[in-house]
Amino acid sequence: MASVDPKSTAPSPKPSSPPHIAIAGGGIIGLVLALGLLRRGIPVKIYEQSRGFREIGAGVAFTKNAVKCMGMVHPGIVDALRSVATDNGDERVRGDYL
Ligand SMILES: Cc1cc2nc3c(=O)[nH]c(=O)nc-3n(C[C@H](O)[C@H](O)[C@H](O)COP(=O)(O)OP(=O)(O)OC[C@H]3O[C@@H](n4cnc5c(N)ncnc54)[C@H](O)[C@@H]3O)c2cc1C
Repeated sequence: MASVDPKSTAPSPKPSSPPHIAIAGGGIIGLVLALGLLRRGIPVKIYEQSRGFREIGAGVAFTKNAVKCMGMVHPGIVDALRSVATDNGDERVRGDYL
């Protein structure tokens, strides 16, 4: 197996075209990752094993840091989240969403 010298100053080879990324799973992480990569011009293909998604009657809460990370990946994700989410109502932890 080839090894990489971490002290090497040689430039890494630049791909002539962007890599094509395969994402296994169309859950929230797969979708957020896909949006972030697409925003940077990197083509992706999502592979999802389920035939479809449905509501399961459970709420999902996102911490402020999770929401911040989503915004760093793509600000539109936070806009979409806020359009359907309910603030947790706790003044001490503003920015948490349910
Ligand atoms: C009742 C409940 C409440 C929860 N509440 C919270 C909460 O409040 N806050 C929180 O942060 N988290 C919560 N979680 C955890 C939450 O599910 C995860 O944080 C979140 O869904 C993880 O997202 P994910 O995309 O990594 O995984 P998932 O949502 O599990 O998505 C993975 C997807 O990959 C697909 N998949 C798996 N293997 C393959 C394969 N080999 N090929 C193709 N597709 C594949 C699956 O079908 C699935 O659609 C809760 C979970 C449950 C069950």
